Amino acid sequence: MPSSYDPNNIFTKIIAGDIPSHKIFEDDVCVSIMDIMPESRGHVLVVPKKGARNLIDVDPDDLAELMKRVQKIAVAVKKSMRADGILLRQSSEEVAGQTVYHLHFHIIPCYAGQRRNRHGEVEVSNDDLAEIAEHIRAAL
Ligand code: AMP
Repeated sequence: MPSSYDPNNIFTKIIAGDIPSHKIFEDDVCVSIMDIMPESRGHVLVVPKKGARNLIDVDPDDLAELMKRVQKIAVAVKKSMRADGILLRQSSEEVAGQTVYHLHFHIIPCYAGQRRNRHGEVEVSNDDLAEIAEHIRAAL
């Protein structure tokens, strides 16, 4: 089973700007983008710029810096989306549900009484994603 980091993945192309995305945050450590197949309205991903495959191989100091951003973005998502809670998820390896092998955290807003979509179940239009991204950016 492969377990090393391969820079040839969709998130490195997004970080490089070679593939379009709806960015809500960017600094020297990470980018945060709208997930194109959201499990709920406002589902975003936080992706470190420095390559790591997943939680298993990431440098702990890099992870600590990344988690500061994850918290800041989660707070902005919860507030701007008026969510009741936040589900934070990170999948390491295929058996755990990982499909893109560049470390990322999912920030998934949870709304009382609303069921979430399954992973990869629903694709949302670019217009919708752009509108939500704008909304979240304003809270950051
Ligand atoms: P995981 O399955 O945990 O590795 O998460 C990968 C996530 O990346 C999934 O939720 C996908 O919907 C999302 N995804 C894949 N391609 C893109 C893309 N081009 N832009 C934004 N999100 C993407």
